[in-house]
Amino acid sequence: MKNLLRHIWRMLLNPVFREINELNSKLCQVLSKLESIEVSMGGGGTHRTVIDTQNLRFCPACNKISEFLPMGVNPRKNAKCPFCYSLERGRALWLYLQRNTKILDEIFVNKLEVLHFAPERFFYDKFSNCSKVNYFPVDFNPKFKGIRDVVDIQKIQYENEKFNIIICIHVLEHIPDDNTAMKELLRVLKKSGAAYIMVPISKSYSTTFEDSAHSTPELRLKHYGQSDHVRRYGMDFEQRLVNAGFTVNTIKTEEYFSERERAIYGIIPDYIFECSH
Ligand SMILES: [Zn+2]
Repeated sequence: MKNLLRHIWRMLLNPVFREINELNSKLCQVLSKLESIEVSMGGGGTHRTVIDTQNLRFCPACNKISEFLPMGVNPRKNAKCPFCYSLERGRALWLYLQRNTKILDEIFVNKLEVLHFAPERFFYDKFSNCSKVNYFPVDFNPKFKGIRDVVDIQKIQYENEKFNIIICIHVLEHIPDDNTAMKELLRVLKKSGAAYIMVPISKSYSTTFEDSAHSTPELRLKHYGQSDHVRRYGMDFEQRLVNAGFTVNTIKTEEYFSERERAIYGIIPDYIFECSH
């Protein structure tokens, strides 16, 4: 019965979602060929505004077309969706999960245990509204009231092999002992589960740079690019996950998404680390 439901779900609904995504991204592409459009802002058409269509993007997380906002210490253009607040890494992971894994099918069929560190708001909204998900949005320094537990990723309080899915984006670069954190993630992941880990990586660094002497916000900003980062990850990040015990499937967004998709969805050259036992 479960297999039948899973099959029906995959056959009927996934293509519909993909079609909506495709139609919206095509609309965005067409709009971007115009110089500008004039739109009514309500009030019987009395309030009108002109939008520069070159900057329009399509957010696959909330299915809205808009201009994305800049974000970051050195502001990145077209980074943040103004509706669901998704950023480049979150949108890339959401699209990858939609297209390449059975996870989003499973969510509507089986009860899944999902652990999510420092949750992105749009993931939080999707998972917390799904009755089939036993969702654990957690943080060490909770920033909003939806956080379920205060968790130190270096000493996770949950039992071994509890979770089917772990999502951990923009976290490890803040953690003093990231090797212990990675081992903890592996410990609480089910044998059949997957952990999705993403961090900023400096491609010009073959190995990760970390120096305990850089202990002030000013020095960390100077050497790591952000005042609350404790290292600058290099191209050895995958090996660091392997060293912690993970089997790693690395997805390069530059290869996985076409140039057109990256432009329309606001996705940067990046890596999704799909980690398992
Ligand atoms: Zn959005």
